[in-house]
Amino acid sequence: MTTSHIFDPLLDPVALPRYDLLSPEEVSVGIDALISHAQATLERVVSVNTPATWQDAMLPLSIATERLGRAWSAVGHMGGVMDSPEWREATNSRLEAVTHFWSALAQDIRLFNKMKLLQQAADVTSHPARLQALSNAIRDFRLGGAELEPHDKEEFVRTAARLAQLSQTFSENLLDSTNATVVHIEDESRLTGIPAHAREAAAAEAGRRGLEGFVFTLQQPSLMPVLQMAADRALREDLYAKHARRASELATEGPQHDNTAVMGEILLLRQRRAKLLGLSHAAQMSLASKMADSPKTVCDFLRELAKKARPNALRDLEELRDFARERLSLPDLQPWDIAFASEKLREDRYSFSEDEVRQYFPLPSVLRGLFGLVNRLFDVDIRPMIGLAPSPAWHTDVQIFEVHRGDHLVGHLFLDLYARSTKRGGAWMDDSRGRRRLGGALQTPIALLNCNFAAPTSDKPTTLTHDDVITLFHECGHGLHHLLTEVDELEVSGINGVEWDAVELPSQFMENFCWEWETLSTMTAHVDSGQPLPHALFKKMLAARNFQSGLFMLRQIEFSLFDIRIHEELTDLEPSGPVEAGAAIMRILQEVRGEVSVIQPPSFNRFAQSFSHIFAGGYAAGYYSYKWAEVLSADAYAAFEEAGIDGYGHVGHRFHAEVLSRGGSRPALDSFVAFRGRKPSMDPLLRHSGLDADSAKAA
Ligand SMILES: [Zn+2]
Repeated sequence: MTTSHIFDPLLDPVALPRYDLLSPEEVSVGIDALISHAQATLERVVSVNTPATWQDAMLPLSIATERLGRAWSAVGHMGGVMDSPEWREATNSRLEAVTHFWSALAQDIRLFNKMKLLQQAADVTSHPARLQALSNAIRDFRLGGAELEPHDKEEFVRTAARLAQLSQTFSENLLDSTNATVVHIEDESRLTGIPAHAREAAAAEAGRRGLEGFVFTLQQPSLMPVLQMAADRALREDLYAKHARRASELATEGPQHDNTAVMGEILLLRQRRAKLLGLSHAAQMSLASKMADSPKTVCDFLRELAKKARPNALRDLEELRDFARERLSLPDLQPWDIAFASEKLREDRYSFSEDEVRQYFPLPSVLRGLFGLVNRLFDVDIRPMIGLAPSPAWHTDVQIFEVHRGDHLVGHLFLDLYARSTKRGGAWMDDSRGRRRLGGALQTPIALLNCNFAAPTSDKPTTLTHDDVITLFHECGHGLHHLLTEVDELEVSGINGVEWDAVELPSQFMENFCWEWETLSTMTAHVDSGQPLPHALFKKMLAARNFQSGLFMLRQIEFSLFDIRIHEELTDLEPSGPVEAGAAIMRILQEVRGEVSVIQPPSFNRFAQSFSHIFAGGYAAGYYSYKWAEVLSADAYAAFEEAGIDGYGHVGHRFHAEVLSRGGSRPALDSFVAFRGRKPSMDPLLRHSGLDADSAKAA
């Protein structure tokens, strides 16, 4: 056992973790010790002399790997919120060792065999959560190729390595192609409509290249202002066309960054890998760890959603065409006009001042409103811990809260809300400690919520845009999922073990309350007058929320259906033909567009060659998850709408009992059905997005 250890003040199961005592200099020694300890525990656990029981095998290994996992995640957290050359060096010094430990563990056939034995152990069969944890672990071993014969296993490993390399090539091609082409403008009169900040950036870009005038690139921050605002149609067309051809055989710079064959080989190898595992196709492999049970379920879901969204998408398009013809003298709306005309239409009909809205959302009022809501919904009391000396936090900005439910302390919440030069962008939740029961003692969970809001000044509090408020509620939803669990096994408590396409349910669920007048109005107080948000302004925000929601929905469905279909259907590709495979991928894209889209892109559009989510990221046969989780969260929220605000406590109690408290201890669908009394329905999402039959008629 590691007794006296530099990470100990961080890893206590009960006391608050001491981030204040962490120093980058200690990382390598501490992490090495935790790896050795975990390795030694593993050796003991897999030995034939160790009884195959939860108590003797699973628990010791779980505790040892948890210590390593928590310490390493704290290192990652410090790098994310207190960036410095020292923290970077500390992270890099042990990145390879930690990665190597986890991947060797995932491939350890001795452990795999032990786990199979464990499924019969008396202290497992009587515990559904333990059974679930084991079945997840065994599934992941199988998907990792643990059961393959040596010859197949060798091919499996080779395939995985080649796939990693191809993903990298895909990204590099896309980046190189994006950077290979620019548009140089010398005549300033062509820039009419483009906002000053974008012009200045374009002038600076020209300067960097030793050119006069303005240079626009195919990167989003340079491209979007042109597509949305430039009055010069030929300029929009030029940039649109160059952007749409990136990383393809039609790219402006030539075919040297063409991703077509790369996509083809990626798909060939994914199918091969699935076949080695005895699965019918790559989609089945992806769905094995997801809530959706088959590609058919996913396709039916997407097609149903498309059917319902289509009338509104057609209406959105008609409205846009009419507006473009009448107000912009564009009688023949082209793909490079769509962003431009949409922006003008939005300004004309749905605009409001973001800055005006933000005056009504001072951070202290929003936090009070959020905590009040959480209290009403889940009987949860979030109390600030004041005067902690020393504070265990990493920075003086961090606020620490105790989270109580009923008369129990269930966990702690750290809020680090303000932007700093040492903090990475965006908003996210880090898991500092997960719930588990150790003998008689309870290890309570700790969530770290990180945002990037402007810090208050001496005379004004931080004010939030409505998007900021939504972000805060979203991350708080992840936090509640982590904190309100009542599962005793770490592997399936809180967010652990929850299917990938159901993880966003609690977070997106919380967002809904930001669109609810009764809740939202109580957390607004104008920063000068203290007045609540005017209802008329709220109605404008609502209208803007659903602007072109039909078109947006169909676009997401097009990407999702394309993704799932190529991974399900293209299974008989010639191993020798990545180029032909690439062509088959393009054929499916054409079919999907024909089926779903109301706006047909021009024939030179090569969207697939830049679809990084599925070819270079982790979304293969999983892009549908965005819509899937939205459906779940909107439908869960609808139960609250049905009960009315007076019934919130009652429904919240059930949502806690059946969803939040259960974590990954049972399938997400079972939890959902237990809460809702039926399978998920897409109607609430359609209604909230203004896409249901009634909204269509009303318009
Ligand atoms: Zn999220």
